[in-house]
Amino acid sequence: MRPLQSPLQARQLSEYVCNNCTRQLRRQRRRYATTTLTTSSNPDIYDVVCVGGGPAGLSLLAALRSNPATSRLKIALVESQSLTPIRSFSLPPTQFSNRCSSLTPSSVRFLQSIGAWKFVKRERVQAYREMRVWDGVSGASIDFDTAALGPGGKDGVIAYMNENLNLTSALLQRIDELGGVDVLDGQKVADIRLGEEGEDVDLSSWPVVKVSGGREITARLLVGADGANSPVRAFAGIQSRGWDYERHGVVATLKMEGPGWGGEDHKIAYQRFLPTGPIAMLPLPGSYSTLVWSTTPELAAKLKSLNEQDFVSMVNAGLRLSPTDLKYLHSMPEGQTDEATWREQHTPFETNKIPQRVVGVQEGTIASFPLKFRHADTYIGERIALVGDAAHTVHPLAGQGLNQGQGDVESLAKTIEYSVTHGQDIGVQLSLEAYNAERYAQNNLLMGVMDKLHKLYAVESGPVVALRSLGLRAVDGLGPLKGFFMKQAAGTGVKVF
Ligand SMILES: Cc1cc2nc3c(=O)[nH]c(=O)nc-3n(C[C@H](O)[C@H](O)[C@H](O)COP(=O)(O)OP(=O)(O)OC[C@H]3O[C@@H](n4cnc5c(N)ncnc54)[C@H](O)[C@@H]3O)c2cc1C
Repeated sequence: MRPLQSPLQARQLSEYVCNNCTRQLRRQRRRYATTTLTTSSNPDIYDVVCVGGGPAGLSLLAALRSNPATSRLKIALVESQSLTPIRSFSLPPTQFSNRCSSLTPSSVRFLQSIGAWKFVKRERVQAYREMRVWDGVSGASIDFDTAALGPGGKDGVIAYMNENLNLTSALLQRIDELGGVDVLDGQKVADIRLGEEGEDVDLSSWPVVKVSGGREITARLLVGADGANSPVRAFAGIQSRGWDYERHGVVATLKMEGPGWGGEDHKIAYQRFLPTGPIAMLPLPGSYSTLVWSTTPELAAKLKSLNEQDFVSMVNAGLRLSPTDLKYLHSMPEGQTDEATWREQHTPFETNKIPQRVVGVQEGTIASFPLKFRHADTYIGERIALVGDAAHTVHPLAGQGLNQGQGDVESLAKTIEYSVTHGQDIGVQLSLEAYNAERYAQNNLLMGVMDKLHKLYAVESGPVVALRSLGLRAVDGLGPLKGFFMKQAAGTGVKVF
């Protein structure tokens, strides 16, 4: 395959393909024009086919379309769900979807740079400026405040809580604004195979995606943004290794007694480590919070079976009572409310160090998700790139999964831009190496830390408890070290809106 003669020539083409292929493809298309485009012998040909219209896939498409260097690539999206309800996502201001993610300032900056952030409904996004983390066994705690970031960080933001649907809806609106993406939604990937060596053009290394509607499309570069059970990863024969945590993340939208101890302008995120897993309460606008309680599948099932009042009591208890008290409450078939109230009266805690009380839970928002650790052996193959959960799945205790996906997308879009502007084939493995090199090590490090944290806090007694408490107190007392951890978690922590 000969390289492009110049980046300008590449941009003059209706889509990016090298000169040799362009001539071949034009000949082929002239032939195709006389036949139907949906037969297996006649697949449609794209520069990029992205499977998966979640946060990672949609961000990639918006990034490619919004960059003049890559905006002429011919792109298709395959998504098994219908995107129509996501596009028009709308809920009353006091109702929130139960799938929320914390977006770091770096992710928000990226979303701004691709023009998607302006479509996010800001009134549904909640910034938080402080994070309080404590050990449910020993009581040792650490407070992260943006003041620890030093000059410039004082008025900053640690992260933004946002409904995943608010994000995907905004990304879809941005893609619609940019145009130029062939969207095949409501269509599952039925099969992926390699193309054929034809008379005019050799597509034998190009993946051909067959969707459930029967259409077949061929990809110069096939992107797997198709989540933890990625069919693209399976097609590429890339192993994904890891383990199940034997934990489920219970989520719910909670109504609180007030907007929080810091009021509307200084919202605080809370996380308490229990031996069964962390319970996190993250602020939403007004007097609402979102819950992520990682616990055993049995206890998750139990929590989901409770009536509203007992569920609310268990969440309040989870942030206040000892692991022994909680074990007893979990063993009760019902009536947790009276028992928890009595036990709380006999438990000392500093009220303003823990979240305000939960007073209700929004109907239909209690759900749970199995938690796993998985990391693909590589993020690339010949004409293959994996992004987001298709490449890595992590424990949500540090709220990083979606943010890691945004980092992947930013890096892959940059790699594709480089190939386009330097006359390289965007799909060959050599062109994709830079993406793998940049993201793999970075994600691996973060995933290792999150996994170790989960394991460290699963211990209930013995010297580990004393040591981890000592560690938390030491970091809490050392301003620069704390600042370092915060910068890792939040990017530079500077306010973005
Ligand atoms: C309880 C919980 C809390 C979390 N909290 C946070 C947080 O605070 N911060 C954070 O950064 N992350 C968080 N995460 C992680 C975050 O939700 C995920 O990392 C993120 O949603 C992954 O996005 P994605 O686009 O890679 O994959 P997905 O969102 O899984 O999207 C994959 C898409 O591919 C489509 N698809 C799959 N198979 C096919 C097929 N065969 N054909 C066509 N389409 C297909 C699916 O329909 C889906 O739309 C949390 C996760 C959990 C479980």
